[in-house]
Amino acid sequence: MPDASPSRTLLNAYSRFERNMRWRLGSYAKTVVYHSAKNHVCPICGGPKRSTNPICYSCSILREQAKALGVEHQMADQVRIANYAIKFDQMYRVMDGYKRNRKESKDYQETLKYVLGDALAVHRDCLARMSGGISPSSWTTIPSTKSSERYGQPHPLNGLVSPILKAIPEIRLLVNGPKTRAISSETFFLSEMYPSEMMRHVLLIDDTWTSGGTVESAAIMLKQHGAQRVTIYCLARIIDLDYCSRMVGQEVADGYSRLSYRGGCPWGSPQCPMVR
Ligand SMILES: [Zn+2]
Ligand SMILES: [Zn+2]
Repeated sequence: MPDASPSRTLLNAYSRFERNMRWRLGSYAKTVVYHSAKNHVCPICGGPKRSTNPICYSCSILREQAKALGVEHQMADQVRIANYAIKFDQMYRVMDGYKRNRKESKDYQETLKYVLGDALAVHRDCLARMSGGISPSSWTTIPSTKSSERYGQPHPLNGLVSPILKAIPEIRLLVNGPKTRAISSETFFLSEMYPSEMMRHVLLIDDTWTSGGTVESAAIMLKQHGAQRVTIYCLARIIDLDYCSRMVGQEVADGYSRLSYRGGCPWGSPQCPMVR
């Protein structure tokens, strides 16, 4: 197990970091919830679901596809998403705007540095706790696909994550084709073979989750190339309230509108030292 007791000084610094984060995000961010009283959130992605179904429609479609391809067992071991980005709220604008070349992009990137720093540095040991005590042995981000205007250039997300995770090695994903919503282990490939020590627990980071098809395709490819464990971490779960009210119900859509920023452990660890 990782060191379970960070020093008092470090905990104080982390608390200050989280206070600043709350100040920055508290007025508009909505933390992803994984449980609801009426059983209307998907335990995988936090998206809307009918109470009679165990997971949401898009996650069940994805699992069906993976099953049909015989790769269901190679999907990510765990998925965690930080915030909701409800079309077209402030977080949605942050997620869309941080990677563009606009005057507000730098400010949006500063916001996302807090979200990433919180999950990947402040709560680093919580991730290990939630992964059977296995700390990430490498990390990677989803690159821009061929359909993107940024194809071939470094993705801004990579630039945000890299200084936070500089203590562990990076795995580079390359792209074969356009981004698809369907599961495909052919979309991504590895630039080289990596040592098995690096493949013990790969932390796979993406910015937004819509159907999960792209990032799960990368998880499956990593497993096929020796990853023993894959954790997906996404900054935001896109929510379309019109779709939600049509498919699940107006009451559920209203529930999403009322959610707020909660803080708490981004990995949901019951032993989190930051949550008392
Ligand atoms: Zn889901
Ligand atoms: Zn924690």
